[in-house]
Amino acid sequence: MSTDPIQSAALFERAQRVIPGGVNSPVRAFRAVGGTPRFISRAEGAYLYDADGRRYIDYIGSWGPMILGHGHPAVLEAVCRAAADGLSFGAPTEREVELAEEILKLVPSMEQVRLVSSGTEAAMSAIRLARGATGRPMLIKFEGCYHGHADALLVKAGSGLATFGNPTSAGVPPEVVQHTLVLEYNNVEQLEEAFALHGSDLACVMIEPIAGNMNFVRASLPFMRRLRELCTEHGALLVFDEVMTGFRVGLASAQGLYAAAIPGFRPDLSVFGKVIGGGMPLAAFGGPRAVMQHLAPVGAVYQAGTLSGNPVATACGLATLRELQKPGFFEELSRKTRLLVDGLAGAARDAGVPLAVDCEGGMFGFFLAESLPQNYATVMATDRERFNRFFHGMLERGVYLAPALYEAGFVSAAHSDADLAATVDAAREALRAG
Ligand SMILES: *Cc1c(COP(=O)(O)O)cnc(C)c1O
Repeated sequence: MSTDPIQSAALFERAQRVIPGGVNSPVRAFRAVGGTPRFISRAEGAYLYDADGRRYIDYIGSWGPMILGHGHPAVLEAVCRAAADGLSFGAPTEREVELAEEILKLVPSMEQVRLVSSGTEAAMSAIRLARGATGRPMLIKFEGCYHGHADALLVKAGSGLATFGNPTSAGVPPEVVQHTLVLEYNNVEQLEEAFALHGSDLACVMIEPIAGNMNFVRASLPFMRRLRELCTEHGALLVFDEVMTGFRVGLASAQGLYAAAIPGFRPDLSVFGKVIGGGMPLAAFGGPRAVMQHLAPVGAVYQAGTLSGNPVATACGLATLRELQKPGFFEELSRKTRLLVDGLAGAARDAGVPLAVDCEGGMFGFFLAESLPQNYATVMATDRERFNRFFHGMLERGVYLAPALYEAGFVSAAHSDADLAATVDAAREALRAG
């Protein structure tokens, strides 16, 4: 249908000589779907432009942060002003306090917050804090959830609940993951068993409340309710990794949704990233004062960062969070996302292709399957060949979806109804073509 992306192909060649795999983060290389990754030269509103001058409607949004769309004027102005005042001081600034206050105002489960530079760093630090605060070594994570690439989290399930996980990356010695237990998402029975066996050694359970790293899978209410009860009963901290869902599924984040459905619900610690940086390197973790006081310099749990709370990144994050709080922001964003997924479901019906969809706020998922998966194994059993054809069919038609079937999608405030309608038309064509 379309010609090859000549400039992107040339840049990819050049990149592979000097950067492993030609990319600075693996999923960008298109390994899951094949083909040439597009090198992006600029972005504006809902669109990406590649090195060959082609325009794409962007449903990645830098993997979540660009909730306002690219180049939002208020954000750009805040960034330029902050940059003119200095790029980094290595000393505290008023804006860090402002951003912390802003985040705490929106997340009632947290009384204090520490700013860092990446989601990986925030998740890793939250685990160290949980271990330091409880004096316990073990943690539970769930298969299909991603919490960044800290050693202790690069692990898959072992052969049973009494055994610990195996590293999923070379360079992680088995001893480093020997305290990490990996369970199936949404499996209440396994959770009960794991707590019965290890409850008194558990520092924390870390979870993506809506798992965006296996496309879009919600933790069921019974599962979340039981998880909260078990953590409380056994004195383990419940850690919500909201790096993706935070200020993306709603102003109150995913924890707000669970709190609305389960009376009195709140996580013990929360991890944020992506949207709170608005596209700059910024992330955070926080919780009750009593727990956060275990952090250096007041407490014994060490954690630090040269660029933590960077003045330009905090300006970008603050400007972004302020836009999200304008009246009706999430109502309008949710309406658009719903319009998109309903459109995709309709297009699939027209083409006679099974497609299950879900969304919340500005985040969505779609599966080439009859029904919504509840765990990682079911996600990975959806039609991969068809997904890959669909991905490329959409890319050729100017729609940039995440290049792997286990990634979530994102709609921004800059997407117009016309963009969404064009996307649905492209999907109908792509699905009909096979
Ligand atoms: C992206 C992501 C991370 C890692 O954040 P980085 O900034 O890429 O290090 C952690 N947890 C979740 C849920 C994420 O989506």
